[in-house]
Amino acid sequence: MKPPELDPVFEVSLRPPMFSEFTGQVKVCERLELLVEAAKKRGDVLEHILLSGPPGLGKTTLANIIANAMDVSVKNTSGPVIERAGELAGLLTSLEKGDVLFIDEIHRLQPTIEEYLYPAMEDYRLDIIIDQGPQARSLRLQLPKFTLIGATTRAGMVSAPLRSRFGMTARLDYYSAEEMHKIILRSAGLLGVEIDGAGAAEIAARTRGTPRTANNLLRWVRDYVQVKADGKITAELADKALTMLEIDRDGFDQWDKRIIETLIHKFNGGPVGLSSLAVAVGEEAGTLEEVNEPYLIMEGYIKRTAQGRVALPNAYRKLGLKPPSGAQNDLFGS
Ligand code: ADP
Repeated sequence: MKPPELDPVFEVSLRPPMFSEFTGQVKVCERLELLVEAAKKRGDVLEHILLSGPPGLGKTTLANIIANAMDVSVKNTSGPVIERAGELAGLLTSLEKGDVLFIDEIHRLQPTIEEYLYPAMEDYRLDIIIDQGPQARSLRLQLPKFTLIGATTRAGMVSAPLRSRFGMTARLDYYSAEEMHKIILRSAGLLGVEIDGAGAAEIAARTRGTPRTANNLLRWVRDYVQVKADGKITAELADKALTMLEIDRDGFDQWDKRIIETLIHKFNGGPVGLSSLAVAVGEEAGTLEEVNEPYLIMEGYIKRTAQGRVALPNAYRKLGLKPPSGAQNDLFGS
């Protein structure tokens, strides 16, 4: 069972509004703060920034923090939403000087739209073709100087020409257990939920280093303790609540478990191609690759090889099985 999705109000209220409230990603934040400070000192517009990393780690949050720190407005959109050049033109022309345009999932922009973006990013102009056939004309729009912040879960899928137009690229990583602990205590405070240190640690251990998951789990545990106990989150109650959600102590949900079970039982430990694995698991290949796999790979349960996905000894142990003698022992084996 997946925890229910958050309602937008809940999401927004928990978003740290400034760098000082943003936990973790220390090096990235330092660099971003420096860029902001330098741009402000020069009275200049901030350069374009590309943020990458798995979902729920704070890319959107950081884009908003940057805009706040620059004291400018931010317009949000997402790669697949922009279908026509006219829509991009509408967005760009509605910006004021210095504003941030945030494009989530920027790797999913259509190539034609991407082409329009190049001169917009570089020279703040947009050449739009209007009409078709012999009447076709090009219309040049001068844009205000703006900052594009792109976010992507798939840095490798951002085309080289687009990537090269960003002044800075930063990669967000999974958070440590201590950072997650801190984030949970902060969110609990904002929600007015009573929680002790052990309760926060119990939740933190199961968040897979992802703040969005932490907030989802926290809300679930809050509901649980309100119904089953006196409303205060302790380690024991957090454990019971999360066990009910089928999230185990390693942060595995049923999908993660299903992935390694399928890999081991149906494909004999691999190698198996992503699409075959996805069909067998019953999940979309993209979700599997962007949401579940990065964590399983980082924690050493599976690895990607040129031939496909392979189960590592940790995956066998997780299922209470003995790793086969030929199983590759580490992430770097051939
Ligand atoms: P992404 O854009 O990378 O998918 P978001 O920026 O939407 O992730 O973050 C998901 C949620 O996690 C946000 O609503 C925010 O409340 C929380 N969050 C993310 N990063 C942090 C952080 N460093 N500290 C506290 N909360 C965070």
